[in-house]
Amino acid sequence: MQIKLTEQLNATPKGQKAEEIIRSCVHCGFCLATCPTYQLTGNELDSPRGRIYLIKSALEGNQFNDVSIAHLDKCLTCRACETTCPSGVQYGELADIGREIFEQKRSRWQKLFRNTVRLTLTSPNLFNIFAWLFRHSKIQSKPIKANQVESRILLMTGCVQPSLAPNINHVTKNVLAKLNVECIETSQKECCGALDQHLSAQETALEKIKVNIDSWYSLLETQDANLKIDTIISTASGCGVMIKDYPTLFLKDDPYYKKAVRIANATKDIAEYLSEKDLTKLKPKQSNITYHAPCTLQHGQQLPGIVEKLLVDLGYQIATVTDEHLCCGSAGTYSIFQPKISKQLRDNKIQNLKESSPDLIVTANIGCLMHLSGGTKTPVKHWIELFDL
Ligand code: SF4
Ligand code: SF4
Repeated sequence: MQIKLTEQLNATPKGQKAEEIIRSCVHCGFCLATCPTYQLTGNELDSPRGRIYLIKSALEGNQFNDVSIAHLDKCLTCRACETTCPSGVQYGELADIGREIFEQKRSRWQKLFRNTVRLTLTSPNLFNIFAWLFRHSKIQSKPIKANQVESRILLMTGCVQPSLAPNINHVTKNVLAKLNVECIETSQKECCGALDQHLSAQETALEKIKVNIDSWYSLLETQDANLKIDTIISTASGCGVMIKDYPTLFLKDDPYYKKAVRIANATKDIAEYLSEKDLTKLKPKQSNITYHAPCTLQHGQQLPGIVEKLLVDLGYQIATVTDEHLCCGSAGTYSIFQPKISKQLRDNKIQNLKESSPDLIVTANIGCLMHLSGGTKTPVKHWIELFDL
């Protein structure tokens, strides 16, 4: 796709990055078939290609209005289009650049609403006040200690998961202890920055990200054998993809770039980490389950099938889910700002997940877990909780 940036944008690294991404799109339209919002509305402007056109038009200095903002707002940032695109268009990165530009013309009331939601979710103290209403699971077992510490990892705590489902990281720590892996946990204040980044508060996101990078890099590089970690583990695939994307937020000559690459390379989803381990001494609870694959794991982290394989290796039968590649409608704060589409996607997803009549639905991201739980009586858990530890 050809593009002529405004002079002002042409002089900025973000403008040049956007131009590079837009030029890589050959407007073939393959991405339309896997875009959840295009499938629901049938409107080209609710498709990846249509949104690329809208962002391109704004970058060229043309007027845009509430209608353009609404079409970009409807995007789930599920990145199914990236998985489908034969030209490797980095749509997610372009959408964030587009959002930053569109934000300038958002109404004052919308900005206030969005900022209130963002600040509530990313402030652990504030969020804890609301969380007791929605708490999903409590810690159900005693903590286990490793017999001998063979390696040490940093477990990403996350900002919302500890209040909503503390059992997920509790079981994770117990599973790792059984494998003689010791966990250090990040502070609950160390949010990965995803919510700020995707709600057009990029400067706030970058401040948090730099604090994380400095803190985690020192643990990866320390010479102190009692503190040194070899891996950063996330049990929420939404946080994991954000951390793996840190290098895209810095120019290559920025002192943070190399550190961000080191952090990204050391970060693994818990499924990725356990796939490399011998799990024979762990016995998961057997039940009739079905698995929901979060977009952040299959499209964002490009790890399709990783949990399914692990579960099959552990003895589960995993039925194929119709339209597995489609988003469940959770997508961070999407269910708050786009409730109608979000509910439609959830209803479709639950119907597909229930085709095999499961007793339990498991997933790999707290956002999907909470969203799906709200639409079905079938219990929904993180798959790591299948371990009775
Ligand atoms: S599939 Fe890729 S190249 Fe084709 S229109 Fe979509 S984004 Fe552009
Ligand atoms: S990120 Fe998802 S919703 Fe957004 S354009 Fe791509 S496929 Fe569609």
